[in-house]
Amino acid sequence: MSVFDSVIIGGGPAGITAALYLVRSGCRVALFEQLTMGGQVLQTESIENYPGFPKGIKGWELADTLAAHLDDLSLERATGKISSIVQKDDVYVLSVEGKEVIAKTVILCSGAHHRELGLPREKELTGHGVSYCAICDGNFFRGQEVAVIGGGNTALEETLYLSKIAAKVHLIHRRDAFRGAKIYLDRLESMTDRVSILRSSVPVMLHGDAEVEGLTISSVKTGESRLLPVKGVFVFVGNTPNTAFLPKNVQLDEQGFVITDTEMRTSVPGIFAAGDVRSKQCRQVVTAVGDGATAAQAAFLYLEQKNV
Ligand code: NAP
Repeated sequence: MSVFDSVIIGGGPAGITAALYLVRSGCRVALFEQLTMGGQVLQTESIENYPGFPKGIKGWELADTLAAHLDDLSLERATGKISSIVQKDDVYVLSVEGKEVIAKTVILCSGAHHRELGLPREKELTGHGVSYCAICDGNFFRGQEVAVIGGGNTALEETLYLSKIAAKVHLIHRRDAFRGAKIYLDRLESMTDRVSILRSSVPVMLHGDAEVEGLTISSVKTGESRLLPVKGVFVFVGNTPNTAFLPKNVQLDEQGFVITDTEMRTSVPGIFAAGDVRSKQCRQVVTAVGDGATAAQAAFLYLEQKNV
């Protein structure tokens, strides 16, 4: 069986960049993506803070543009879910859909997936009014009232997106201060006809049998409840890293994100991490791309030093 210099797990901005750098360094690379190249960028309507695109760029367009950079390069690209990574002597054996792939280094760019609220019947009503992706599902709620839960950049951006489709968007955040960027909040605060911002409030109950027909929220200050007549509930309360397949000796932080040093080296020699799966403050496309390049360079040096 052939041995790859590096296997990259995940085809988002971090994985694409790591692949680009390693192939250009002459390494034999395989990149595994679970679904479609682009990662979470595909679920973002418009990206306004990626340098080089002063007017912003659609998420799908940036994903396509990044992925196209690999088109003429010689690397193995495959769709498949990694289920485990086991170290054997100097190499790593990865299980991918019942097959084994061998690599001298592994770069984890597996990103993160959305967190759920944990409300009763949330799972049951997912796809029937509860959603975690405005771009995917927003159009089902054209001209209707919807709620967005969360106070981070995703919640603010998705509220802006939904405000162009829905009759009214209620943005519900558990605190008074928002975590997301002021530029988005200012915009939302000026849209009083279509956006109502409900601070210090938490969702407590979803209504409706087959589909969402309302949401009860409660004030964390007064305990007062209020029923919002919404047909859609969009949940953006943060992300959980995709690390289930990792060996136990890869050190994680208390939230489960992979701890690296500044060169993207994890606690296990030969395993690197880049992008949203990594423990860090600033999760952006631009930092994912930077992580990817740094991880590739570190992996290249590791291969050179080991002379393998
Ligand atoms: P996030 O920044 O972690 O924000 C999650 C939000 O959900 C927080 O406001 C949090 O409240 C709230 N929350 C968490 N659990 C909750 C619960 N059980 N009930 C109610 N509210 C809850 O997540 P994110 O917005 O998905 O962003 C993830 C990362 O991607 C961040 O680093 C973000 O900056 C980045 N991002 C950047 C952009 C951009 O720059 N354009 C766009 C999207 C995402 P508290 O504030 O009270 O903790």
